[in-house]
Amino acid sequence: MTDAEGGAGMPAAGAGSAEDEGWMRVALEEAAAAQALGEVPVGAVLVRGGELVARGHNLTHTLQDPSAHAEMVAIRRAAQTIGHWRLLDCALYVTLEPCTMCSGAIVLARIPRLVYGAPDPKAGMTGSLGNLVQHPRLNHRVDLVGGVLERECGDVLRAFFRARRRRPEPDAPQEPLE
Ligand SMILES: [Zn+2]
Repeated sequence: MTDAEGGAGMPAAGAGSAEDEGWMRVALEEAAAAQALGEVPVGAVLVRGGELVARGHNLTHTLQDPSAHAEMVAIRRAAQTIGHWRLLDCALYVTLEPCTMCSGAIVLARIPRLVYGAPDPKAGMTGSLGNLVQHPRLNHRVDLVGGVLERECGDVLRAFFRARRRRPEPDAPQEPLE
């Protein structure tokens, strides 16, 4: 499948620019950092004016914090770096379609642009289950591109859960892509 085909029913899915792919590769580095900790491998970066503002990876298990998704970690760090809760002029890159919580945080932070890699048919809230970041009754709409390096982003997750199935744990997280 080419990037241009996107996922069925996904809004604005399409090929990212070379710049989008470059930042998604940085997000993939963060996903690898999560995996090294035994976390579900999801990574995120926030970029402003072509410069990296913050990066983050999933730390849910490490911190025992259900809100420590990659996007939330990156958003908190970016707000600290910028010194403001509004992340204007920023683009968020994340390897997996954001969940309900992260989609809400993206809207609350007024992030103007979201680029994600693999869709999450089980929990994604930027196209799969619904689309919070482009909700017609919210006063903030996000420019959205999905499917950037979709194959690579999804393969990292599929490999993680394939290995996890061979050594299951009682509190193993839900698999997003299966
Ligand atoms: Zn999330």
